[in-house]
Amino acid sequence: MDLYEYQAKHLFDSHGVPVTAGEVCATPDAAHEAARKIGSAVVVKAQVKTGGRGKAGGVKLAATPDEAQARADDILGLDIKGHVVRRVLVTEATDIAEEYYVSFLLDRANRAFLAMASVEGGVDIEEVAATRPEALALVRIDAIEGVDEATAARIVDQAGFPAHIRDQVTAILVQLWQVLVKEDATLVEVNPLVLSADGRVLALDGKVTLDDNAHYRHASHADLVDKDATDPIELRAKEFDLNYVKLDGEVGIIGNGAGLVMSTLDVVAYAGEEFGGVRPANFLDIGGGASAEVMSNGLDIVLNDPDVRAVFVNVFGGITSCDAVANGIVQAVGALADRGTPVTKPIVCRIDGNNAVEGRRILTEFNHPLVEMVETMDDAARRVAQLAGGAA
Ligand code: GDP
Ligand code: MN
Repeated sequence: MDLYEYQAKHLFDSHGVPVTAGEVCATPDAAHEAARKIGSAVVVKAQVKTGGRGKAGGVKLAATPDEAQARADDILGLDIKGHVVRRVLVTEATDIAEEYYVSFLLDRANRAFLAMASVEGGVDIEEVAATRPEALALVRIDAIEGVDEATAARIVDQAGFPAHIRDQVTAILVQLWQVLVKEDATLVEVNPLVLSADGRVLALDGKVTLDDNAHYRHASHADLVDKDATDPIELRAKEFDLNYVKLDGEVGIIGNGAGLVMSTLDVVAYAGEEFGGVRPANFLDIGGGASAEVMSNGLDIVLNDPDVRAVFVNVFGGITSCDAVANGIVQAVGALADRGTPVTKPIVCRIDGNNAVEGRRILTEFNHPLVEMVETMDDAARRVAQLAGGAA
């Protein structure tokens, strides 16, 4: 999960990284009030999860509260690379002497982390990397050893930070590393890290990507989830603890095991070409021990997606045998009726693997008009694509 700048700065602040005080505002009036409270010149900054806001007109200086209000009025509602600005950060303006760049990121290929630093910050760092690679220091960070003062000093020296701010930048790098480790982030980036006219080093921007797999370790991170921007079905799926990703097609997909679900997406997309280009509507992996309850929740989520016209349940019985899965489907259909949301869309089931014969017998006996069984994955994909494509 990527964070907004203001959220990243809250995390920075809580780990001791110097940032300027500010307030998030949703209206020009609120921006006026925030600027008045700050009592000095401010910067009004679009809060969108994309870079290059400055170039897009999303970062403006304002000398007075009236100006802050006017700038907020300009910026709110702007579309920056497809992200509509709903809120601005109003923060104390800094008199900038120099702009730098620092970041830590997960380096999967090398099973390590990577520190990047440059005294030529503020601009697009990809451009620096491409045109003046010698201006960007790259330091591999051992995942176990991490970044202590000595390592931070090495990064500072390699990037060529001026001697008079060496200690400040070193301390900030150690603190940013703490943000990465303590908050379970995979990216912590500051561009620009600035030297102010009065000699202080501080983070004027912040980008943090949190590792969603570590979400359970951080109760406080729940507040960082952007409910407005998250797909409502994905939010509900999260409440059920399901691995669900919304896609833009018409065929609901439920399977057990991420690999099986991914290949199901492929065969459905392939089969769908023949039926008007229908495509998978979602990814949903209900996991190895697919109980009746999990199956109910999964069907509930997928059937309630208004884009879904037919559902493909593709289960390979392993640890959970097919008869348990089949019973799960039968109970799920019953449970949905009990919840007041009976099944109204066709469900095509392909169940194979451990105890498949008994599983199929259960579904045959169930004999529900909307539940069909198809023996192979390819045939089932064709059938569900045909149903979703409008044919009976
Ligand atoms: P980005 O364009 O999305 O990366 O947004 P930034 O937060 O990095 O802001 C873009 C640029 O605006 C920075 O590189 C600075 O040059 C400028 N800027 C941001 N805050 C201030 C500030 O407090 N004072 C001044 N003078 N310029 C600022
Ligand atoms: Mn920036």
